[in-house]
Amino acid sequence: MNNLSPPSLPSTMKAVVLLGPNRLEMRRIPVPSPGPDDVLIRVESCAICRSDLGMMEKPFPGQSPYGETILGHEYSGTVVALGDTVDEFEIGDRVTVEAHLGCGRCRNCRLGDYTSCLNYGNRAKGHRCNGHVTPGAYAQYVVNHINTVHKIPDSLSFDEASLVTNLGCVLYGIENLGGYIAGERVLVIGAGPLGLAAAAAANALSADKVYLSDVLADRLEVGKKIGVQRTIDASAEDPLEVILDDTKGLGVNYAIESSGTQAGLDLAVKATCRNGKILMLSIAHKPLKVDLENLSLDDKDIITNRGESRANVARAVSLLAKDRVDLRPLVTHGFPLDEYETALAVFRERKGGAVKVILHPQE
Ligand SMILES: [Zn+2]
Ligand SMILES: [Zn+2]
Repeated sequence: MNNLSPPSLPSTMKAVVLLGPNRLEMRRIPVPSPGPDDVLIRVESCAICRSDLGMMEKPFPGQSPYGETILGHEYSGTVVALGDTVDEFEIGDRVTVEAHLGCGRCRNCRLGDYTSCLNYGNRAKGHRCNGHVTPGAYAQYVVNHINTVHKIPDSLSFDEASLVTNLGCVLYGIENLGGYIAGERVLVIGAGPLGLAAAAAANALSADKVYLSDVLADRLEVGKKIGVQRTIDASAEDPLEVILDDTKGLGVNYAIESSGTQAGLDLAVKATCRNGKILMLSIAHKPLKVDLENLSLDDKDIITNRGESRANVARAVSLLAKDRVDLRPLVTHGFPLDEYETALAVFRERKGGAVKVILHPQE
């Protein structure tokens, strides 16, 4: 690599390694070296994602073996070393990342839909997904291919920048819905991190009105801070009634389902107007039923979404950098990497209104 290990770069680092189902251990391992097209990033902030908990419980397809898996795919930091061919970045650049690097050779990657790479999990063919297939950022340093790295301005904090793929994922979904949100009525069901990012994006893209439905009052409060015009406490009022009352019986143009529940999907179908569209931002972990008759008669579409392909992470960086979307209210907790067990418990149990919990590996 170029600019070979500046003197400040240590030879070993702290990393939390997954050794078996729900068995994590802090270890000291060598700092990885960037390949020709890579940069080495000193991790400043790594957000815990719900899928981290899923991978801890049971390996996802393509996941690296126990003893090698380092979780953490939502992170930001500083470039500290460059691969031989890299002139796109400089040492000291503040950056954020996207997890997926497509193989670049399959049809989907060639179309730009690299989160649906047909060689997913095949490292030999060039596919990477840090924090899943390749090592992630529950560690002090990570190697990233330059195609997965985005510069960020000084005005954007590392904590907020670490959430960029949440917004990128939402924007990819919106692109797949047909783009534009300006003038549309949007209902977001489920105020988890992705639902909140979706509500913030819809607001930034000039939705006519953004509704956010959840049963957790503290999450609805976060929704108000990011620009939601009408929060619906589903434990106290019927979201469908609220929508139909407020839209003269028409319903919303877009329903963004982010709860992963049968009730959420049913609401999305019923609350969407004729010719409306439903975006499945959530991944339901069990089969859900859908009223196809309602969909067909009213010419409604359901679109699924995984990841943040095409240019959507760059778009997300732009929205954050220009302060059009503010994800800071989602960052509720931060812990040094040493306290990862506490951080995971706070996230898992939503202690103290936890939405996004950030690990700080340099503290
Ligand atoms: Zn994630
Ligand atoms: Zn591919």
